[in-house]
Amino acid sequence: MGIPFLRVVPPPPPREPRSTGDVPTLQAEDVTLEYRTPERVVRATDRVSFDVLEGDRFVLLGPSGCGKSTLLKAAAGFVTPRSGHLRLDGATVSEPGPDRIVVFQEFDQLPPWKTVKANVMFPLRASRLLSRRQAEERALHYLDKVGLADFADAYPHTLSGGMKQRVAIARALATQPRVLLMDEPFAALDALTRRRMQEELLSLWDEFRFTLLFVTHSIEEALVVGNRILLLSPHPGRVRAELDAQAYGLHSLGSPEFQATSQRIHRLLFDEPAASLAAA
Ligand code: ADP
Ligand code: MG
Repeated sequence: MGIPFLRVVPPPPPREPRSTGDVPTLQAEDVTLEYRTPERVVRATDRVSFDVLEGDRFVLLGPSGCGKSTLLKAAAGFVTPRSGHLRLDGATVSEPGPDRIVVFQEFDQLPPWKTVKANVMFPLRASRLLSRRQAEERALHYLDKVGLADFADAYPHTLSGGMKQRVAIARALATQPRVLLMDEPFAALDALTRRRMQEELLSLWDEFRFTLLFVTHSIEEALVVGNRILLLSPHPGRVRAELDAQAYGLHSLGSPEFQATSQRIHRLLFDEPAASLAAA
């Protein structure tokens, strides 16, 4: 007996009607990604397709090594697909740009010689988006939004892991990207801080309605953060299923439905061979 909202691929997902028009904000079309070394070729993903629509909190979920980070790097423009395309607002992604900014897991993503404020201002100045004064104003605005207004002049090494991740999020949001890319941003935090950061991310989304592509290997985190979840098979990553996670969030943590769905996702990721899924 299947859970009705769980649609298993194939067939491809139907487009949801949206008032924002037909072109997805970020689109992956048959994306195959490979690493080439002199000795061998490692295939990271195999023909992965998905559409991230305006305002989505779209989650890539799969086990370690299934190519999630590589997909995110391809969306950011750091990695070129072996075949297939990534498109931003319909245009093929060919290089990094200030319209896509990444928040990583590592706490050392902030240059230690810059203050918190200077870190947040840096991409705004580097891309010549804003004057110095405008950049400072905007940096302080977003630092306030992540609760760090009082730490603008502090240096990163004086902050906790959670605070450093808040700075990275403020820096990303301040550029007002078309897509915010997050690669397991809370994975290195303790459980309580991680939960707090998930809450804060969701309330920032409530306020700003940015478009998010979020990578995690945690089923629970995917259900809490995402409104749509793409399940990827183990290495190399292939699309296993896409599901509507709209109904799940912090409010439903621990409910029987949440548990049942987590278990179902676990089976989809690890147990069932793809062939039997089509009939499920
Ligand atoms: P995930 O983020 O899902 O854990 P990755 O995208 O980091 O997966 O890696 C996907 C696959 O590509 C893995 O098998 C990994 O070992 C391989 N890989 C990642 N980076 C490199 C690299 N720089 N050179 C060679 N292989 C790599
Ligand atoms: Mg990764």
